[in-house]
Amino acid sequence: MSFESLGLRADILRAIAEAGYSNPTPIQAQAIPAVLKGGDILAGAQTGTGKTAGFTLPLLEKLSRVTADKLVKGRRPVRALILTPTRELAAQVHDSVRTYGKYLSLRSTVVFGGVSINPQMMNLRGGTDILVATPGRLLDLVNQNAVSLREVEVLVLDEADRMLDMGFIHDIKKVLALLPKQRQNLLFSATFSDEIKALADKLLNQPSLIEVARRNTASERVTQRVHPVDRNRKRELLSHLIKQGDWQQVLIFTRTKHGANKLTEQLLDDGIRAAAIHGNKSQGARTKALEDFKRGEIRALVATDIAARGIDIDQLPHVVNYELPNVPEDYVHRIGRTGRADAEGIAISLVCIDEDKFLRDIEKLIKRDIDKQVVPGFEPDPNAKAEPIVLGRRMTIGAGTAKPGKSRAGKPGAAKLALGQKPKNGNGKKPSGNNQQQRTSKPASASTHRKGPPKPAQQRAQGNS
Ligand code: AMP
Repeated sequence: MSFESLGLRADILRAIAEAGYSNPTPIQAQAIPAVLKGGDILAGAQTGTGKTAGFTLPLLEKLSRVTADKLVKGRRPVRALILTPTRELAAQVHDSVRTYGKYLSLRSTVVFGGVSINPQMMNLRGGTDILVATPGRLLDLVNQNAVSLREVEVLVLDEADRMLDMGFIHDIKKVLALLPKQRQNLLFSATFSDEIKALADKLLNQPSLIEVARRNTASERVTQRVHPVDRNRKRELLSHLIKQGDWQQVLIFTRTKHGANKLTEQLLDDGIRAAAIHGNKSQGARTKALEDFKRGEIRALVATDIAARGIDIDQLPHVVNYELPNVPEDYVHRIGRTGRADAEGIAISLVCIDEDKFLRDIEKLIKRDIDKQVVPGFEPDPNAKAEPIVLGRRMTIGAGTAKPGKSRAGKPGAAKLALGQKPKNGNGKKPSGNNQQQRTSKPASASTHRKGPPKPAQQRAQGNS
């Protein structure tokens, strides 16, 4: 199958050829004709499958077919709206729109939170055919009359499962209420929970079903290895692996923002060019770190789960779990950052005794044992005792020794969370709203209880994203 046979115009084919793609990926081969036909689509596809081009290419084709008419009216209403869960993903989708649409006369704009709204309002003034947005900022812009969604012809929900995980369902419903009833809807999701099915039922009209990758396929594609190691020797082992293996590009996951910062400083001390990317960094700093990493100026990018979501780096060779995630599904998302497209990847987890239960939960989810190799010189102490892991001020995840209601930092009233259980907010509901730190507890306001400089364990409790 070739791109030429899919009904895309020459100007789009030229941009595809320049991007270096010779053949459509399976999701593209199915999604492009289906979108061009005009019906709704429910697509099960993870990042790495080429899903972005799967909806962007036919969208560009469709919009180009009628641009001339619209332009005669001298206006550019938003005709395609692409919603994404994170600003990184929004920026990347927008890059794809620009790349594939560079020979077309369509205009595209991206808007997301965390940066000043005014330049985005200015950008929207001249009109835009395609708008890529995160839900919260989009609603702000609509409320300020900076944009109207009344003429949207195609709606794309990208990574819909992530949007729901992050509590965007209410924002999505508000956006849906602003759209015309007559439109085409494309829903992309890596997983199909009951919540996603409910959204699909409400949103989609007799959708074509497109499924190209089973859930968790990354775990089959990527070489995985666990290096058992003591918790206080992880950093030394990591530097050793990077240097000894001469790794030039490694994405490293920590559980907390503070952990990401601390590890970055330590790697720099070890002479390894590193940068951190997480929710407390400004958008500018995050974009710069990502670009430096892509260009090879930074060898190690240290990220938290949410910040790393949607990061698109071709052929990322190494992913390291410096700390295992407490939610097993996050492990699958993390290792999915390597071994993309046709490339081979390796995912390494540095696992200390505190994380044994996390590891077992992950192995249960991926239905296989991960190969364990002790690195000579880094043998774990056989007498070491497990300690509970602090995820946030008020939350510990136990490895057996935690007293109920006490965090590692000894905070009274700290809630103990069952393994794999997602944190909930005070009213017992899943968190909602549009900030990006909602899957784990937010730290309580500044240190009302803390006296003097924080101890390491307390520092680990500074919240996650
Ligand atoms: P996505 O699943 O959209 O995040 O895309 C994953 C990666 O695959 C991106 O880096 C794309 O540049 C790349 N890609 C998309 N389509 C193709 C294609 N037809 N051939 C080769 N690579 C592709």
